[in-house]
Amino acid sequence: MTRVDILAVAAHRDDVELTCGGTLIKAAARGRLTAILDLTQGETGTRGSAELRAAEASRAAEILGVQARENLNLPDAGIVNTPATRAELAKAIRRFAPRVVIAPAARGRHPDHRVTAELVRDASFVAGLAKIEPHVPKHRPFKILHCLTYREHDEKPTFVVDISDEFERKLEAVRCYGSQFDGVTQAGEVFPNGEPLYDVVRHHAAHYGSLIRTRYGEPYYTTETMRVDDVAALEVSTF
Ligand SMILES: [Zn+2]
Repeated sequence: MTRVDILAVAAHRDDVELTCGGTLIKAAARGRLTAILDLTQGETGTRGSAELRAAEASRAAEILGVQARENLNLPDAGIVNTPATRAELAKAIRRFAPRVVIAPAARGRHPDHRVTAELVRDASFVAGLAKIEPHVPKHRPFKILHCLTYREHDEKPTFVVDISDEFERKLEAVRCYGSQFDGVTQAGEVFPNGEPLYDVVRHHAAHYGSLIRTRYGEPYYTTETMRVDDVAALEVSTF
């Protein structure tokens, strides 16, 4: 496995594209090494098949510019946070040795998303415990980011990544999942408003962009507070 700067971990193939695809594209364009770890194969999805989604996911990975895309083969719609799954995920995190791990939001509609958020945090901690799975050298990521895109709870983003220049490419990656998304108005955490799904994705990104006075954005939450050295240099106007 490749060592990377940023590892995005998600329950299902297509989650990363929807929630943080623009951020991954932007990071790769700046020379950061990125990778994706999907926890399940998507075998319980209503549309398409796991095989079809595998092909879609690898096409999307090329568009996102990631170094690697792996799958942990946990049961779809049955992800649990146990010592066994934490150890499995910790081993994968150690091999990628990321500084930053991107995880789902702590709350969400699909139980896999909620559990994955907690599992990623716990596995990242466990990855730093040398005596667990001692045959793989320990590595604890420096920081965990939770994607807030499409979430309805009232958590204010800690920050928003400007993806104005990356949005069309992100949408191209989302469109790889034609078996899931063509002709639909809802998917995962994306609640329907009657528009085609791709338009909903665009409008959500435009909303998050407006929070930082830019065209498109992807929102994140961190449990840690952001540090500032020079308040006179702060961005995003109040008026
Ligand atoms: Zn999902």
